[in-house]
Amino acid sequence: MATVKNWQLGRDMAYPYDARYPTRQFAFVFNINRCIACQSCTMACKSTWTFNKGQEHMWWANVETKPYGGYPKWWDAKILEKLEDANPGGQVWGGKVGDGRVGPYGTFEGQTIFEAAQKTLSPDSARVLGYLPTDEEWNSPNIYEDNPAGKRGVRNKLDETGEQLPVHNTWFFYLARICNHCTYPACLAACPRKAIYKRPEDGIVLLDQSECRGYRKCVEACPYKKSMYRGNTRTSEKCIACFPRVEGTDPETGGEPMETRCMSACIGQIRMQGLVKIAEDGSWAEDRQHPLYFLVHVAKVALPLYPQFGTQPNGYYIPPRWVARPYLRQMFGPGVDRAIANYVNPSRELLGVLQLFRRSNRIIYRYEIQEGPKIYDGSLHGRKVELYNDTVIAFGKSGREIFRTTVEEPVHVRTNAHANSI
Ligand code: SF4
Ligand code: SF4
Ligand code: SF4
Repeated sequence: MATVKNWQLGRDMAYPYDARYPTRQFAFVFNINRCIACQSCTMACKSTWTFNKGQEHMWWANVETKPYGGYPKWWDAKILEKLEDANPGGQVWGGKVGDGRVGPYGTFEGQTIFEAAQKTLSPDSARVLGYLPTDEEWNSPNIYEDNPAGKRGVRNKLDETGEQLPVHNTWFFYLARICNHCTYPACLAACPRKAIYKRPEDGIVLLDQSECRGYRKCVEACPYKKSMYRGNTRTSEKCIACFPRVEGTDPETGGEPMETRCMSACIGQIRMQGLVKIAEDGSWAEDRQHPLYFLVHVAKVALPLYPQFGTQPNGYYIPPRWVARPYLRQMFGPGVDRAIANYVNPSRELLGVLQLFRRSNRIIYRYEIQEGPKIYDGSLHGRKVELYNDTVIAFGKSGREIFRTTVEEPVHVRTNAHANSI
């Protein structure tokens, strides 16, 4: 195996191929605090890409209720267990949460799915530690919807004393998921036909149907289970990141890159997708005014999903602030406490950037903030809070302004002439 740099783990790691990085990388931030599980994203993807015969159980975009839900069932618990079996007690983070672009969450001292495979599998059998879900596990994408976890160690009994932040005793949250278009894709690493490739221009990971012979090695290897098998064509399929939209070839946008279907449809306004600049070592190049760069590397409120798997996923999440911290630390790494602290007490700039979510379906490349007047002076949980009605302006690929919006939502009063028109 080759050695590659993984900035999320703060160290080098083993990977079957040498590193190759795109100039820009498809990436996204989901703010879990806002997701309402309306499944508009799920249906937007389904009605665009997976509505055909043989795709009935195929949901490239899905939203599951954690802790019990999962599509396929128990996908994360299963791979976590396999890693623990391969390296008992060793799946831990060391070092300190820091400020650098490399290793901001400390150093992962355990084994990734690529490293654990070297220890537990014979070189000929597989390059990635994984498993193949059963048909039954793929059948119920929304099972355990709204089922909460109670107090630790107490079964089938919810807390009776009401709930209070910072952590609820009875909790659940919605985890929206798509393919992470990983920097080190496990699906690509495992494919014996080399049918999976990563595009150099935007890092989108695609599966070439004409090369695929349906061995399902990608389905077995992807730790997020985002490559899926289609029985009637005997090939595997996966999220294509709606690449025609991202390329800006949709006539509706006049050449400006457009966000994907699942992003654009998001009712809860939890999603922002972009194309981030990549440095020579595979980390994110400094791009201070890019909203995703700001959320991941400056405000540090958005974290990768299960970074310990080692694929360097490009999906980032603002963790839900009411959930038990050990659960969140396992899912998003040691950066969780800082991310929540920064989110619940947002800087003036963070408050501005959070307004950019879903004001447009064009991809944002840069933002600017124009300062506005103070609109609120008060306190929350014993700390001083000041709000300013700043204007945040988004620019597209061409450098043209896409839209501008303010921190305070505009109020529209319908004139009397149209009071009962709808
Ligand atoms: S999430 Fe899975 S399917 Fe998507 S690129 Fe990563 S390993 Fe491949
Ligand atoms: S990016 Fe496009 S193909 Fe991928 S899950 Fe979203 S809607 Fe589906
Ligand atoms: S559309 Fe948005 S709010 Fe609705 S389920 Fe999907 S991610 Fe959540």
